[in-house]
Amino acid sequence: MLKPGATIGILGGGQLARMMALAAAPLGLKCHIFSPKGDNPAFDVAAAFTEADYTDEAALHAFADAVDVVTYEFENVPARTADVLAGHCPVHPNARALAITQDRLTEKSFIRDLGLPVPDFRAIDSLDDLKAGMAALGGFGVLKTRRLGYDGKGQAMIRPETVLAEAWAKVGEAPCILEALVPFDRECSVIAARSANGSSAAYEICENEHRHHILSRTILPASVSSQLGHEAMAMAEKIAAALDYVGVMTVELFVAGDRLLVNEIAPRVHNSGHWTIEGAETSQFENHIRAVAGWPLGLTRRLGRIEMNNLIGDEADRWEDLLKEPGAHLHLYGKAESRPGRKMGHVTRVWPEKA
Ligand code: AMP
Repeated sequence: MLKPGATIGILGGGQLARMMALAAAPLGLKCHIFSPKGDNPAFDVAAAFTEADYTDEAALHAFADAVDVVTYEFENVPARTADVLAGHCPVHPNARALAITQDRLTEKSFIRDLGLPVPDFRAIDSLDDLKAGMAALGGFGVLKTRRLGYDGKGQAMIRPETVLAEAWAKVGEAPCILEALVPFDRECSVIAARSANGSSAAYEICENEHRHHILSRTILPASVSSQLGHEAMAMAEKIAAALDYVGVMTVELFVAGDRLLVNEIAPRVHNSGHWTIEGAETSQFENHIRAVAGWPLGLTRRLGRIEMNNLIGDEADRWEDLLKEPGAHLHLYGKAESRPGRKMGHVTRVWPEKA
């Protein structure tokens, strides 16, 4: 268990690391951010930072010696980086959670083997595999690279009219997984925190809307039955326990009729959990910090009806209007440059629960 005044090392210098560092400060914990050269808005709010590549072993050793525990804000931490750091200090979440979630095939297989529902899927390593897979799925599917895909990148939707060779070229002929196309009613997610002693706490299921494959809006309560909501929370806690996970984890789900299907796991705090800063008893960022520090988790109770909107690209230019709006909680990430599709901030509104 860390003592107040201890230092948490965070790999990655984006808005998620920034909000982790902001959550650590009131608890008397310091953060040291490690991130390659670039726009690193987390550096602005951290006690210390190291600007170096994830392959720079001398820098990694010095960083690990300066911190008491290491965590990360993104799942594509190179395995070697995690190994080097783990030689010095605890790394949470653990290497196995990283390895499983870095590869969509091992991830989906792991979830299925836990007995949880996932879309029908199969491995694709060649155009012939793709042809055979699509014949089995009846003409509708989603082809995704096993590694390094996010926000719809490294993906191709396949319909009966799709030329399969073009879809295969679109994903760079990289090892893939092919999934059945789920006719979902809505996309949801559940955030769960788990501490080293095995206690866990899930946040209520939230409903997510995307634009151009990027999260645009999160609302709570989600339009799902309370039974499905509880099932979703139980799924997240089951996955976290099976991974012996320490920290905050996110499970993205499809809701189709009265069924839930797991789409993917993010081994980290998540954009769809930003609502927890003002909308829950304890934010996802604070609970992540508490968990990696070995501290008791805070309550996850929702405090009202909630809407979180991302401010993408020039949407953040509305900041003055948002500041004037009573009850709108504005977050700007302090990024140096605004680009279309870039997450520049978010705004959360919390209303009293209807009587
Ligand atoms: P992912 O990168 O796996 O989160 O996928 C990005 C988006 O593609 C999801 O948020 C869905 O909108 C859509 N998508 C992914 N997989 C499927 C699927 N099997 N069926 C239908 N839509 C999907």
